[in-house]
Amino acid sequence: MKVPKVTKEIFIERLAEKTRDDIELKGDFHGYNKEVTLFHTTCKREFSVTARAFLQLPNCRLCSNEAFTKARQEKNKREFYRKFSRKPYSMEYTFLSDYQKSNKKIKVQHKICGKPFFMTPNKLVNGQQCSNKECVGKRIREGKMKSIEQFDKELIIKWNGEFIAVGEYRGSKEKVNVFHKRCGKIIDAYPNNLLKGHDCKVCTNNYKRSTLQFERELQEVHGSEYSVMGTYKSRHDPILIKHMFLII
Ligand SMILES: [Zn+2]
Ligand SMILES: [Zn+2]
Ligand SMILES: [Zn+2]
Repeated sequence: MKVPKVTKEIFIERLAEKTRDDIELKGDFHGYNKEVTLFHTTCKREFSVTARAFLQLPNCRLCSNEAFTKARQEKNKREFYRKFSRKPYSMEYTFLSDYQKSNKKIKVQHKICGKPFFMTPNKLVNGQQCSNKECVGKRIREGKMKSIEQFDKELIIKWNGEFIAVGEYRGSKEKVNVFHKRCGKIIDAYPNNLLKGHDCKVCTNNYKRSTLQFERELQEVHGSEYSVMGTYKSRHDPILIKHMFLII
């Protein structure tokens, strides 16, 4: 089948068919595969495109480019606000200017200190916040603080459930109340010490008392023949004793 040659007249006909009469041919027509200059009456701008390409996609290239860019910007903007609103601190901030581009600074106000600052959406999404000295200091302090849930979880893992956090957790350097299942007592202890493996002080004191008691009883029977070296745990647990006379 022979394809009829597209002449200037045919092209203008097709132009009328495919558009809403808002595109006009400007200047000459050199052939179907050659560039033509077209005029968009709505935006009153000229653009160049091959005649074939225009008929395949009959719209103003300038307007459609803008529409595309705008749609993409709108999408990025929605994405930015959505991501930022998911930050746990998002309620602390107010946007004083609107999102334009991910790398174009916007004006933000920190409600806590009241100070406005400029920052790119990229940085805001990556977790950067108000750079006010006091606010930065506060964030660092809070970052070091573990939640009671996290502390309790670590405690259970370390002690296989022997200790349970019952009090308020105010950071690793403040004493916290914990329940000790072995002795049934609530004790206060430094969180870091407990996580390092320091035992319950009530139980440790009981051990010491028992060892001293045992030592005394041993002396009553054997005089200074034996010396207690280990820790008394119970009547059934072995304890290290030195027989003093063997040394002499
Ligand atoms: Zn246009
Ligand atoms: Zn601040
Ligand atoms: Zn205990």
